[in-house]
Parts: sequence; C-alpha cells; structure tokens
Amino acid sequence: MKRPFHYLDLPSQQRIMAGRQRVVVTRYCPPGLCINLFGRLVTRNDNWISDDVINHELIHTAQLRELWIVPFYLLYLIEWVCKFVRHGSWSKAYRNISFEREAYTYGDDRQYLDHRTPMAWIKYL
Ligand SMILES: [Zn+2]
Repeated sequence: MKRPFHYLDLPSQQRIMAGRQRVVVTRYCPPGLCINLFGRLVTRNDNWISDDVINHELIHTAQLRELWIVPFYLLYLIEWVCKFVRHGSWSKAYRNISFEREAYTYGDDRQYLDHRTPMAWIKYL
C-alpha cells in the first residue's frame, strides 16, 4: 500500500534550525519558494533564507497557531482568490493577503512577535 506523501519521508531532505524556525530543505520544493507548512519552513535551497525571511515565517507560524492551522490555510486560499479577482494578478493578490501584509510589514522587526497582539492580521483585511 502506497503511503501518503509526507516531507519527513523525503530522502533528500535536510533539516536545520534557524533561530526558532525549523527549516526543511528538499529538492521537492519548487525553486525560489519557501512554504510554511505547519510551522516548518520548506524550501529547495536555504542560501537565500535571511533573518528577515525567518522572521516573516515566524509571523506566519504565529498566525497558524492562533487559527488552529487548517482555518489559516483555508482563509489564506480564499483571500488569495478574492484578491486575485480584485487585482487580476496572482503576485499582486499574494502581496495583498492580510497574513502576508502583516508578515511583510514586520519582517524586519525582530521584537514584533514579543509585542504582537493576537489576530493582528485582521487589520490588514
Ligand atoms: Zn509570507
């Protein structure tokens, strides 16, 4: 019986800890992307993963936890489609998702998570 896909089973993976963020490096991730999967940052190549990127992803991890994970992904996807309809561009829609707007706004603020209010992404809707 074929097992369901799980990145922990991937033979090419490497896992490193970058501060408080767990990073999984795998050739199965498309180039140039980093995806926060259940609080773990998945990427093909971690050479470009800066402290700002790690902080950005830590903000997403906080959003994930306060929304109990699955609702975060559902809201993210729904908002991406709605913003695509409004802006007509997937990349512009992505940058306007409330979760991304919060994460990009505070990606360079290392103390942000220490004073962030819960559900802070709502003000970026
Ligand atoms: Zn992001």
